[in-house]
Amino acid sequence: MRKVASTLIHRGLSALYARLVPHVPEAMAGRVRMEQVQSILRMTPVMMGANIVIAVLVGAAGLASPHTIVLTVWAALVISYALLGLRGWFAARRRKGGKSTVSQHGVNRVVLQAGLLGCLWAILPILTMPREQGFAGAMPMLVACVIAGMIGCGGFALLTLPAAAIAYSTPMALGALWVLATSGDPVLYALGGLLIFCHLVVSVSCLAHAKIFADRLVAAEELEKQKQVVSLLLSDFEEGASDWLWEVDAAGALTYVSDRMAAAAGVDKAGLIGQPMSELCGAAETPTGPVAALSALFAEQKAFRDVTVSIAVGPDGETRQTHWWSLSAKPVHDLNGVFTGFRGVGADITQAREDQARISRLAHYDVLTQLPNRLSFLQALSKAWTDHGKPRSKGGTGAGCAVLCLDLDHFKGVNDSLGHPIGDDLLIQASARLRDRVDDLVGDDGLVSRLGGDEFAVVVAPSPGHAALGELARAIVSDLSLPYAVRGHHVLIGASVGIAVAPFDADDPDGLLKNADLALYRAKGDGRGAYRFFETAMDIWAQERRALELDLRDALAKDELKLFFQPLIGSGEHEVTGFEALLRWQHPTRGLVAPADFIECAEQWGLIGAIGEWVLFEACRTAATWPSHLSVAVNLSPNQFATGDLVSQVRKALKVSGLAPERLELEITEGLLLHDSAKTLKQLAALKVLGVKIAMDDFGTGYSSLAYLWRFPFDKIKIDRSFVAEMQDNTAIADILRTVALLGQTLNLKVTAEGVETPAQARLLADMRCDTFQGFLYGRPMPVGDIPSFLLSNMAQQMRRGDEGHEGEEAAVAG
Ligand code: C2E
Ligand code: CA
Ligand code: CA
Repeated sequence: MRKVASTLIHRGLSALYARLVPHVPEAMAGRVRMEQVQSILRMTPVMMGANIVIAVLVGAAGLASPHTIVLTVWAALVISYALLGLRGWFAARRRKGGKSTVSQHGVNRVVLQAGLLGCLWAILPILTMPREQGFAGAMPMLVACVIAGMIGCGGFALLTLPAAAIAYSTPMALGALWVLATSGDPVLYALGGLLIFCHLVVSVSCLAHAKIFADRLVAAEELEKQKQVVSLLLSDFEEGASDWLWEVDAAGALTYVSDRMAAAAGVDKAGLIGQPMSELCGAAETPTGPVAALSALFAEQKAFRDVTVSIAVGPDGETRQTHWWSLSAKPVHDLNGVFTGFRGVGADITQAREDQARISRLAHYDVLTQLPNRLSFLQALSKAWTDHGKPRSKGGTGAGCAVLCLDLDHFKGVNDSLGHPIGDDLLIQASARLRDRVDDLVGDDGLVSRLGGDEFAVVVAPSPGHAALGELARAIVSDLSLPYAVRGHHVLIGASVGIAVAPFDADDPDGLLKNADLALYRAKGDGRGAYRFFETAMDIWAQERRALELDLRDALAKDELKLFFQPLIGSGEHEVTGFEALLRWQHPTRGLVAPADFIECAEQWGLIGAIGEWVLFEACRTAATWPSHLSVAVNLSPNQFATGDLVSQVRKALKVSGLAPERLELEITEGLLLHDSAKTLKQLAALKVLGVKIAMDDFGTGYSSLAYLWRFPFDKIKIDRSFVAEMQDNTAIADILRTVALLGQTLNLKVTAEGVETPAQARLLADMRCDTFQGFLYGRPMPVGDIPSFLLSNMAQQMRRGDEGHEGEEAAVAG
């Protein structure tokens, strides 16, 4: 029980303490004390004036009492003290301005002075203690009233410093109480009670008021500090940050513009104030999409964030530039809640916007050709599929969409031999041709993109139909196959195209692309420079090709490659002058595979290097066993020049086999010289230095065979068999062949005619003065084991011919 009571008391006192004692932070105590003392100082003249007046009145009242002398002395004391106080006040006023704080010692002095004054007044009741009856009633009453009044006045004047108020009033109250308590008069007892009550009320209200006073001071100080911080931050923000502040009124006209904003707008501040913000800014765009204008946002009277607006910066005329600002603002309301405008921040985001646009462009466009890239292609394909590709049963339009995959033929060769800068220029030119053609034939329905390397794709939606797609593909192939002039080089490449059409050819966009790719693969497999529509059977064909690739990779290791040899016959005596080595693949299940069926694949799959090296060594090794007047011709693929170690391979093959260099003839095609880089010509020259012969194969099938004859000192040209096959029916071709043979003589080149199949062809070619023949008429390509018997029979025939003279030439030729 007692414990409960003590806790209750404790709690009560704590609550009272919290209510009455102000919490002043140490740092502020000096300032608070200063304010307290100042407010007392302000009241000092009144307070001292009151003391003097009341002391004079009491002194005067005392004239009629038996205490005249004592009271006069007392009044003189009080008045002197009050005058001293006034003097202090004057001195303090003169000193005013220097200090902003007061120490605890200073406060203590004030309390002491108040206490002393209180003590002076406390003496008054004691001095006027009733000595005789009769007067006793009036004087104490007067004194009690005076004391009560003085307590009230003191409390009022010393309100802000309760310690001083209490020090002042307590001695007076005690003095008066003592007199009243000792009077023996019940009325005066009651007066004493009243005095106690009065003293308590004054003390408590002093304490309470002082607390409010101190708390207010602390709060005001805190507010001032915050204000300083905010204004510091604001000025820092306006100076340092890239953002700026602005304000508009309810009509949207600018009422505040920071320096930075004026600078960003390229106009001076005064010119902006009063101008409607939405007139300054053009098209607006919120993060969620475009809005009509800034004024529309203002009209909503709602806060907005990160609204992008365009603005014309700078003076009127050509130098005016469009900038982009990002604005965020909140509506402002007055104390009555009436909307008064907007206050917000802004920033110039032109650079960021441009960077973003650049990044977005990089993400969607190919840097080299400026065509949309794979990502854009896939997006376009997916849209085309959704809009047109789906079958009607699944909600599509039924129009269909198509994908054309295309790939440049022989591009890798150009890149490898002429170098990447030329390869890049070639890609740029090819891209432009492709885009122009697609624009021309399907316009906005077609999107051309570069998937990477020399691979391109076109999405066409809606599909213009099978025939139009075929026409587009044909036109693309023919455009891309026209000669290119790249940095002084004359370059020829081709293109192959594969086409797949939705919804027939696939169930989804990925399938459509895959099948267009398959059709492309087929187009390339069928000899390039062609286009193919996807067919279901292509899948099987592609699988077979892949199986072939796997097998070919093992062919060398499994010793499945063989060389066949086809004789070359001198046109005069019909003697064998040598053999051309022709590659065969003895496949365990496919049988004997012809080079036409795998050489191109070997080139594509990067296997030709190793295969070609094997052919070179094998051909030299075989030829070394033949009579020394017989030569051997070896076909070279352009890729063998690209690797760069061809010359050393040839040197090594000659050394290992012991074959005399002049017995080796290397056949190259125009394809190699198309990309006549310094590198290729250097290798050819180095081969010539070794002593081997160089022949131009398939002469006449390319674009500028003749031109190449001047570029490099060939030893031989081999007229392509297509000319030989046609020369009898086509006199123009016969004329060309005659000219070529003549050219050979002039340039001191040997001329070989390929594909001689009939004695009539042989006769005609002999008349044209070709040096050598090669063809089924004389001998098909044969395995190495058949060579000795072939040579024997050739020798026998020659001898017979020698015997028979020159008659019956046809009968003498081996069939
Ligand atoms: P090519 O260099 O023009 O070889 C001549 C081709 O014509 C050979 O076909 C040969 O069998 C064929 N031929 C010869 N005489 C006649 C004829 O009277 N009538 C007809 N219709 N054809 C005749 P093959 O052996 O199938 O070779 C085809 C092509 O494969 C060759 O054309 C050559 O470009 C390439 N090739 C062959 N072996 C190699 C090789 O070891 N390396 C490289 N890179 N290519 C090779
Ligand atoms: Ca050849
Ligand atoms: Ca040939």
